[in-house]
Amino acid sequence: MPRVCCDRCGRPQGHCLCGLIPNLQSRTRVLVLQHPSEAGHALNTARLAVLGLANAELVVGERFDASLWQRPGYRPCLLFPGEPEPSTEPDDSPRLLIVPDGTWRKARLLLHLNPTLAALPRVSLSATGPSNYRLRKAPGPGALATVEAIVQALEQLEAPAQFTDLLKPFDALIEGQIRAMGAETYARNHQRQ
Ligand SMILES: [Zn+2]
Repeated sequence: MPRVCCDRCGRPQGHCLCGLIPNLQSRTRVLVLQHPSEAGHALNTARLAVLGLANAELVVGERFDASLWQRPGYRPCLLFPGEPEPSTEPDDSPRLLIVPDGTWRKARLLLHLNPTLAALPRVSLSATGPSNYRLRKAPGPGALATVEAIVQALEQLEAPAQFTDLLKPFDALIEGQIRAMGAETYARNHQRQ
C-alpha cells in the first residue's frame, strides 16, 4: 500500500504536523543548506523549522552558489563552531544565518565542498541546553536536532525574543514516534544508510 504523505510537512497522512507548526517572524533570515541524505529522512527537523519561520528557506544540495547567501541588506554568517564574528562589528543589518543540516560528518563535507561558505564569520551556540533528540544517534556530546539548534541560535541573536513554538511539531514528532513503535524498533528501522 503506497504511503501518502502531507505535501507540506512530509509526514504520513494521519500524522501530519502542520497544525502545530507556527508562523514566526524573525529579524534574522535562516537559510538551511541540507545534504541530500537528510532530505528524505523521517526526522527532517530542519524542514519543520523552516516551515515555522516566515523568513527562512531550505535548499537541498552538496555544492551551493554563493548568491544564495549574498542577499542585499543581510550579513551572512554560518552556524558552526569556529572563529566567532568580530565583536567590533559596526554593521547592525540583520543576519542571514546559514545552517548546514546533516550529521557532523556531512556538515563538515558541505563546508569542504563550499570554501566560500567555510570562510564566512561563524555563530556558535553559547550554551546548549538539554536535547529532546532521543531517537537518533547523537553525533557528539551536546548534539541537538537542527530545529533545536535554530531555536537556540535565534534566541541568542535576537534576545529576548522567544522561538520555542518552533519546537512544538518536533516534540510531537518525537513523542509520536516513541509511542508508535518504541525506541528500540524505531532505531532498527530508521538507521542511516
Ligand atoms: Zn503536514
